[in-house]
Amino acid sequence: GQCTNVCPVGALTEHFDWPKVLKELDSKRKQLIVQVAPATRVAISEEFGLPSGTVSTGKLITALRQSGFDLVFDTNFTADLTIMEEGSELLERLKTKENLPIMTSCCPGWINYVEKHQPQLIPLLSTAKSPQQMHGAITRKFYKDAFIVSIMPCTAKKGESIRPGMTGDVDAVLTTRELGQLFKSRKIAFTQLPDGKFDSPLGESTGAAMIFGATGGVLEAALRTALDLAGVEHPLVFEDLRGLGAIKESDTPVGKVCVVNGIGNVVKLFHDDPNWYKKYVMVEVMACKGGCLGGGGEPKSMDPDILLKRMKAIYSIDERSTLRKSHENPDVIALYKNTLGKPLSHESEYYLHTTYYPRGGLKEKLAVFLDKVDHRDGK
Ligand code: SF4
Repeated sequence: GQCTNVCPVGALTEHFDWPKVLKELDSKRKQLIVQVAPATRVAISEEFGLPSGTVSTGKLITALRQSGFDLVFDTNFTADLTIMEEGSELLERLKTKENLPIMTSCCPGWINYVEKHQPQLIPLLSTAKSPQQMHGAITRKFYKDAFIVSIMPCTAKKGESIRPGMTGDVDAVLTTRELGQLFKSRKIAFTQLPDGKFDSPLGESTGAAMIFGATGGVLEAALRTALDLAGVEHPLVFEDLRGLGAIKESDTPVGKVCVVNGIGNVVKLFHDDPNWYKKYVMVEVMACKGGCLGGGGEPKSMDPDILLKRMKAIYSIDERSTLRKSHENPDVIALYKNTLGKPLSHESEYYLHTTYYPRGGLKEKLAVFLDKVDHRDGK
């Protein structure tokens, strides 16, 4: 069953899905597959008393296997895929000069805000699904009958997994905090565990995917790939886009780009300059301050420097990575070669892209209806 955690001021109800996952793990009725988001492998450490900023990827993988998962995949694999699709969309739109600036779409908190309050911005949103949903769609293609779980720093990811057109790809979403509870209920000695490795092929990733967890990271990763694909010289690191600033800008060879750190600052951007959209070719918005590493599903912390510590850990993983650009990920290259063709191909559009609707409108109602009648039969 599902239980809920009631907020003391009644402002928020958090659904707990980990008992449902535990039941599946115990029943072993289906193959059990899990994907883990970048921000989780840092923050899970805090659930077990390790210092803030400790990177626990290897222990996390072992703990998931000990909990009963058959395959442990990395959401970062599809963060690289998101970049391939979004970077290609940016280059397309620069060619046609339509629907610019392209706005990132991997944060469901931001998507909800646009659909509810700024539906006129819908054409600007990248149609690329988030890494969670791309991973779900690709995993479902290869493992039709599996029970697929994703571990996210984010409560809004639960809602994202049941959007029209996406329902059924990911069966359950657990927050980092919920995963901590699941491990504790399994009596897993997290800090003592040896390091495990992600399963292949949906587990390979680059440093570019890793920095998705920090504000500015999606845009930096997209630039590394889009500028390479466009054949222009550029730095690997975009320092201007990093850190906890409210609105960050950078001049790139293809135009000015902007990162908005937290949903409150997007309201400020729109309010302060009604012509904001004329200035940029690409805008990243993440709803949580700091990006996903400050997400609502991460462990609560009293440390005033927690966001900076988690951020430093994430950038250090990128620095230590041999591959730091999404288009260099060998598994991504193989997936395009063997299955999808190329970014924005018919197949890629089918599995990796989606549609947005003004909330409550006829289009949304129709999409929900069609989703119930015909969910991806024959996929
Ligand atoms: Fe979720 Fe926050 Fe990350 Fe958006 S920024 S995806 S709301 S954790």
